[in-house]
Amino acid sequence: MHQKPDGDAMGSTLGLYHFLIQFNHIVTVISPTNWASFLNWMPACSTVLDYEKETTASNLLINEADWIFCLDFNTLNRTKNMEQALLQSSSTKILLDHHQQPQTEVFAYGLSDTSKSSTAEMVYDFIINAGFQDKINDDISKCLYAGAMTDTGSFRFPSTSSAVHLMIADLLKRGLKQSSIHENLFDNFSENRLRFIGNVLLNRMQIFYEYNTALISIPQQDLIKYEIKTGDTEGLVNYPLSIEGIKMAAIIIDRGEERKCSFRSKGDFDVNTFARKYFNGGGHFNAAGGSSRDAIELVVSKFKEAMIENKKELCTYQF
Ligand code: 5GP
Ligand code: MN
Repeated sequence: MHQKPDGDAMGSTLGLYHFLIQFNHIVTVISPTNWASFLNWMPACSTVLDYEKETTASNLLINEADWIFCLDFNTLNRTKNMEQALLQSSSTKILLDHHQQPQTEVFAYGLSDTSKSSTAEMVYDFIINAGFQDKINDDISKCLYAGAMTDTGSFRFPSTSSAVHLMIADLLKRGLKQSSIHENLFDNFSENRLRFIGNVLLNRMQIFYEYNTALISIPQQDLIKYEIKTGDTEGLVNYPLSIEGIKMAAIIIDRGEERKCSFRSKGDFDVNTFARKYFNGGGHFNAAGGSSRDAIELVVSKFKEAMIENKKELCTYQF
């Protein structure tokens, strides 16, 4: 899975894990980095290795593996420090992903489908199309539901096709209790995180109505003051999109070692291209990210310049 895994990265990977172990395969899930604690409830999450903390053990597994399934990322550099180990391993690498422009040359096999809502949906298709619907147990259901639900913004993004609803209907028919998954993912945060969000919306958000754009920039001191942990900032970038007329929302967070950027858009503005062009990143048409080693003030001014350059595309508002 990609670094700093989200619900879909962790959910799709653990979903596949719970499928493969039923065939007595020896399976280990490795995350390139740590992850948000709100993912810990997922069945078998406690067995996932954090590559940064357990590098030696992970490298051994990566070298000796027959197969490595790469889920929810398109290019190996999305696995941060794991990239070299993956490149050096002679194992058969298989891609399952829904991001644009996959690095096809490093994978022996793969499915890359940008029309899919989530990698979790692709794991579901993979199991069904292989004829193993009977293997879908409660552990798989929970993981795949979490992946599809988080990557579709709770089933609201345009990627939420009828196939997604049919998959969810199937999981419910199999006995999945979905409301506890929503509670586990959304009602498990600290008081500090909510106060942090209050501060961000009050003091760290700028709106540029002329460009239908909103920008949130968060200095590192805010993260320290409110004891912000991995995952606490997830979803923050979406808040400004609730303002009427806002077409692009951006967030720039000073994480110390780098400035991490996220971009979201509504309608016809392509943030994948935007992130690629200006912030060394990528993602999807309406949700993308990037990063920079420059100081946050510089990243903010670079963003404003990029926004001005895209005025024509941003100020027309067509859906
Ligand atoms: P988020 O903003 O939630 O971190 O990521 C949104 C989307 O953009 C995700 O699909 C993610 O995979 C992609 N993305 C985020 N950061 C980067 C990045 O630095 N490089 C690339 N290529 N994609 C990114
Ligand atoms: Mn995904």
